[in-house]
Amino acid sequence: MQFISYGGVNEYGRSCFLIEISGRRILVDCGISKSAKTVRERYPNFSEADVQRIDAVFITHSHEDHTLALPYAVSLGLNAPVFASAETIAQTRAYFQLWEKTAALEGLPIPYHKEAEEQIDFRPIDMAAAGEWKPLFDEIEYIAGANGHAPGSLWYLFYDRASEESVFFSGDYTMSSAVFPFDWPPATSVDFAVLDGANGVCRSKQADCIADVLSQLDEHVPHNGVLFHVPLAGKSQDWLYLLLSFCKQRDLRMEAEPFLMQELEKLMHEDLFKSGIFRDFSKFLNVQAGIMESGETEPKITLLTDFTLLNGAVRAQGKEAMLTTGPVSPVLKRYVEEENMPLTKLPYHVHPTLTESTALYRHLQPTSFICTHAPKETTEQLEAALRRAAFSSL
Ligand SMILES: [Zn+2]
Ligand SMILES: [Zn+2]
Repeated sequence: MQFISYGGVNEYGRSCFLIEISGRRILVDCGISKSAKTVRERYPNFSEADVQRIDAVFITHSHEDHTLALPYAVSLGLNAPVFASAETIAQTRAYFQLWEKTAALEGLPIPYHKEAEEQIDFRPIDMAAAGEWKPLFDEIEYIAGANGHAPGSLWYLFYDRASEESVFFSGDYTMSSAVFPFDWPPATSVDFAVLDGANGVCRSKQADCIADVLSQLDEHVPHNGVLFHVPLAGKSQDWLYLLLSFCKQRDLRMEAEPFLMQELEKLMHEDLFKSGIFRDFSKFLNVQAGIMESGETEPKITLLTDFTLLNGAVRAQGKEAMLTTGPVSPVLKRYVEEENMPLTKLPYHVHPTLTESTALYRHLQPTSFICTHAPKETTEQLEAALRRAAFSSL
């Protein structure tokens, strides 16, 4: 078995990993680094020859740092099926739109023709059969499960019957989402694990993160309102849900940008969410539709994404506060600078805390592993902590 990283190891962004197992080359994720200064640093570090030899691609979720280099790979000659959940595929198309606008605004070159986006050979994974082994090639099979990070986001476990080797890819994951479930992989020790280490050895609890955000809202909302910046998928659904009860308790109005609502409507499958969540979302969608039709104004909390900021359709008069749970996108950074608006950034976990990393590590008992999605020092701290955890009962 051979593992190659084309990006995403010892850095935050452009996650792109290759595993070669029994002569088959499987690529997992194909993202960009949004904050990189050059095309070379923004896109994965693969050559035409590398890309043309790939047999299959698996995408863990829709975020830019896992998907936006797919059209680039196609333009270099990628000729392989691209597996992902149907939700991930739909969101990825929305992220292509957003990136096109961002790149135009920032004057960033896009190193492929737009048609490459249409040429991606997407194959939706049948989620009804999640949790079952599926054949991939003659000798290789895989299993997928929800990893709590975003709607339809998945971890993957590959098993090669010929060599009896197994490889696990966590994707970005969390066990602390307010709305998305985390499925435990089968309890078999794996040969190699590629693990999300974005939060390093962070020990802060999700409940404390939520309390901090809500106290910021309590401080700012009664005055001029709050613009709450979220990504299109993942944190946006978590915060929509968390704010539903916050606003209800305080009798406050909340609105979400139409693009976000349109994407939420596409996610209305009960099995994507933890139980009970789906009903509240459906109710919210109906109420929102009513408010939009009646033309009522003065919402106090506005959930928005880069899409609204790019279109200049914000009702901000420069008096609201801008809140985000990060990371700060180039579009958001530019917007708050131009509007001279203070930006408050508070953490909310969509990546594992040390407790969660340790729990998954102990569950998988990998013979070897690598942590990804963080700078070198953070990665080394986490890897050392996990090695220690293997020998202690902490
Ligand atoms: Zn992500
Ligand atoms: Zn990521």
